[in-house]
Amino acid sequence: MIAQAMYELGTKKSTIRTIFEYGRKRAAQVGEDNIYDYSLGNPNVPAPNFIKQAIFDILNEEDPCAVHGYTIAAGLPIVREKLAQSVNRRFKTNFTAKNFFMTGGAAGAITITFKALSEPDDEFITFAPYFPEYKCFVESTGAKLVVVPAQPADFQIDFAAFDKCLSSHTKAVIVNSPNNPSGAVYSEATIKKLAAVMTKKAQQYGHPIFLISDEPYREIAYNGIDVPYLTHYYADTIVCYSYSKSFSLPGERIGYIIVPDETADYEKIYGAVAGAARVLTHVNAPSLFQRVVARCCDLPSNIEAYRKNGELLYNGLIDAGFKCLKPQGAFYLFPESLETDDYAFCKRAQSFDLLLVPGSDFGCPGHFRASYCIKESTIRKSLPIFKKLAQSYKI
Ligand code: PLP
Repeated sequence: MIAQAMYELGTKKSTIRTIFEYGRKRAAQVGEDNIYDYSLGNPNVPAPNFIKQAIFDILNEEDPCAVHGYTIAAGLPIVREKLAQSVNRRFKTNFTAKNFFMTGGAAGAITITFKALSEPDDEFITFAPYFPEYKCFVESTGAKLVVVPAQPADFQIDFAAFDKCLSSHTKAVIVNSPNNPSGAVYSEATIKKLAAVMTKKAQQYGHPIFLISDEPYREIAYNGIDVPYLTHYYADTIVCYSYSKSFSLPGERIGYIIVPDETADYEKIYGAVAGAARVLTHVNAPSLFQRVVARCCDLPSNIEAYRKNGELLYNGLIDAGFKCLKPQGAFYLFPESLETDDYAFCKRAQSFDLLLVPGSDFGCPGHFRASYCIKESTIRKSLPIFKKLAQSYKI
């Protein structure tokens, strides 16, 4: 009668959602200030004022029928050209409007890309810990998601494990750096090695293997750490970008795909992107926000609050006895749980009103994710509670 798989996707809540909803109920009982909700990755820094100003200016200056009207599916040429110039200036690339396809955020960008590339029996590889939605997005195209186990020492790539996952079925490799949930940034050495392995395997199998760079956290990188621009290292790279995190606009659904000229068959891939977008009922990325990001694309993201929160939480957790990688980017910490069963650990944390997400949900058991895009005062108040939680394991 119905598509059972769709019913299950629509009704089975993710662990993150379940924890978040529990938090809302619990906050009603004990008060908002007594619950420490580290579950969601919803930016708590408001969109910058220049976004508000751009919205006003566009509404005042531009033709309302155009502002609220359909645009061509790829996005307004003038917007794409402006974004191309901005990316070229910042990353020394050589894109033009024809390389850009505007999307509804990174989710739209990666789903369209997966659909554009996927053929029967294809496999898409990603590295744990990974964004859990990859699984249903990839599977919706009929392809399979293959997960390379994590390298918890530094959350770079375990190349021996990667080698075992590659096969003639591999269509693409998905990377996400800065990473949700580990907060790690892939180093240039990692990227170079990844590119070398993929080049060799693509030659061996006689077909391209695409590198899909899912990069909604590109701007959120701390202490001057370099986030390599992947098209410089590997020709068959497709970039999926979003303004959800960098400009705190997750509800507005705006981002883009870049298909560089250098990809194996640019015309065909770009055409398939347009086709995939069409069947996924993309129509066009939000018209007002295409214009907004074109006006604001050269302006900086405000990451200072995230950097401070990251330091505060990291130092607090280390002080409480947790083992954790220092945050390099994004707004998540991914410490080791204090017992092997990360679900049991998060359940115990919940009894202290600390809402944490089990690492198993990201393909990396024995860890938990704490999203620190929350109020600094909440983090500060939660630190003694983390200590109590750690103490409870010593009794
Ligand atoms: N990819 C990763 C790694 C994410 O963490 C998220 C959102 O949290 C997305 C994609 C989707 O982001 P967007 O709001 O741009 O669709």
